[in-house]
Amino acid sequence: MDTKTNVPSNFIRDIIDEDLASGKHKAIVTRFPPEPNGYLHIGHAKSICLNFGLARDYNGTCHLRFDDTNPEKEETEYIESIMEDVRWLGFDWGEHLYYASDYFEQLYNLAVELIKQGKAYVCDLSPEEIRKYRGTLTEPGKESPYRNRSVAENLDLFERMRAGEFEEGSRVLRAKIDMASPNIVMRDPTLYRIRKVSHHRTGDKWCIYPMYDFTHCLSDAIENITHSICTLEFENNRALYEWILEQVYPEPHPRQIEFARLNLTYTMMSKRKLLQLVEQGIVNGWDDPRMPTLSGLRRRGYTPAAIRDFAERIGVAKANSTVDYAFLEHCLREDLNKTAPRAMGVLRPLKVVIENYPEGQVEYLEALNNPQDPEAGTRQIPFAREIYIEQEDFMIDPPKKFFRLAPGREVRLRFAYFITCTDVIRDDEGNIVELRATYDPETKGGSAPDGRKVKATLHWVAAEHSLPVEVRLYDHLFKVEDPSIGELEDILNPDSLEVLTESRVELNLKDAKPGDKFQFERQGYFCVDPDSTPDRLVFNRTAALRDTWSKVKGN
Ligand code: ATP
Ligand code: MG
Repeated sequence: MDTKTNVPSNFIRDIIDEDLASGKHKAIVTRFPPEPNGYLHIGHAKSICLNFGLARDYNGTCHLRFDDTNPEKEETEYIESIMEDVRWLGFDWGEHLYYASDYFEQLYNLAVELIKQGKAYVCDLSPEEIRKYRGTLTEPGKESPYRNRSVAENLDLFERMRAGEFEEGSRVLRAKIDMASPNIVMRDPTLYRIRKVSHHRTGDKWCIYPMYDFTHCLSDAIENITHSICTLEFENNRALYEWILEQVYPEPHPRQIEFARLNLTYTMMSKRKLLQLVEQGIVNGWDDPRMPTLSGLRRRGYTPAAIRDFAERIGVAKANSTVDYAFLEHCLREDLNKTAPRAMGVLRPLKVVIENYPEGQVEYLEALNNPQDPEAGTRQIPFAREIYIEQEDFMIDPPKKFFRLAPGREVRLRFAYFITCTDVIRDDEGNIVELRATYDPETKGGSAPDGRKVKATLHWVAAEHSLPVEVRLYDHLFKVEDPSIGELEDILNPDSLEVLTESRVELNLKDAKPGDKFQFERQGYFCVDPDSTPDRLVFNRTAALRDTWSKVKGN
């Protein structure tokens, strides 16, 4: 536990504590640096919660910086969605919104500075040649024949690259470091390439664009970032990050710290692959409720609080691992259990006619809004002669362990009465289409004055006094735990979406709005989808009630 901030400590907080104690920094500045080439996913949420969370806990600042150095991939739509998602998660960058492209002029000048120091050169090798010359993990690289160009020639060529004199791919600017370095990243990495493409912010001003490694460390330095937190894949790049700053930027330098990225079972976490799902129409857009994007999770009914809690509880580590998807659902259920009002919803209705209940009579029964929250109060739900129960709550010939409704058996209707099944009506094909029952008027509210017990309590809605709705049930998009391997057609779960068109919910939900969340008794958590119309609500099942994580881990 960190005594100052009251949150569990971790190796990143330890570094920050040290830097504050030693006086190296007086205040900390972090940043979240998305590339605007897709929608944010749950992995990004880990990074957002970490960076913005540190700034919050240490009274520091966290910047939102768009790492927009790849002109062809970036789109305004992505920028807007990213801002919306960060805000939705509950974080605020205040005035600290930046774009790496705002630094293009400054970066160009720093590249010129590097050339003047004799530490960068224009190289005419083709991309394939550069790759070949680079060497391998076991073999050193080979120096480019253009490596020893004079400073004057390099300055001239670089300026002409900028002026658009050369074709794409014909020349690059490279750092002059060490072609024999055991760290391949340090083998004269490319700093600038020619791309004759319009940029979403700088238009056609530039036809050379800086590479990630050159841009990122300098953007951090320009913004006075103190701790630049990134995922483990960049561990080898740290040497280059530091090298560039040492050559051209005054101290103090930001410090790069790597942590393990989030991997989740059954979940694909690469924007490139998620884009493929969208483009091939495998899902209905970036915000499809089966997507691990923040917009998908939001539409599915996830709450920012649940995602923040999840990010906090998985912690940060230096070794890669995979988190069980069930744990994310566990965090969600903990939140929704406290906050989602209860409602009655019957997913697959079976009509029950209560023959001794007066025809045309409607009575209103009192139901608890949330047994977890005494403040949530009660509501009135209509009860009548014809009701619906769940098809799966009835069996004509029940096995031993089935305690719900069966011919001749008595069960409790939640908040209502005991009923006994007296008859079963079938259609011409023999399908059960209706039940007949009797109720015991003495059992109002759900208990019998004579003390007799029933073994099951069923949810229900009144037939006429309920709303017909659509319900969408979801399962994992992939049927394998690790969808990063395998062809899409082999790993997609064909049953990831089931649409129910006959479902009914209690009348009280008639004014529910997209985003509203409920716990349907015994069925799980549901959220109103934006596809809803004034005439017909559409519900997404956010999660079933059963918590498989608690079960597996014995929690
Ligand atoms: P992807 O591989 O999904 O395209 P990315 O790393 O290319 O992701 P960026 O937009 O560059 O996406 O990421 C912005 C920030 O989010 C980076 O600092 C990156 O380290 C972090 N990030 C991305 N994916 C994860 C993840 N799975 N877990 C934790 N942090 C992540
Ligand atoms: Mg990236």
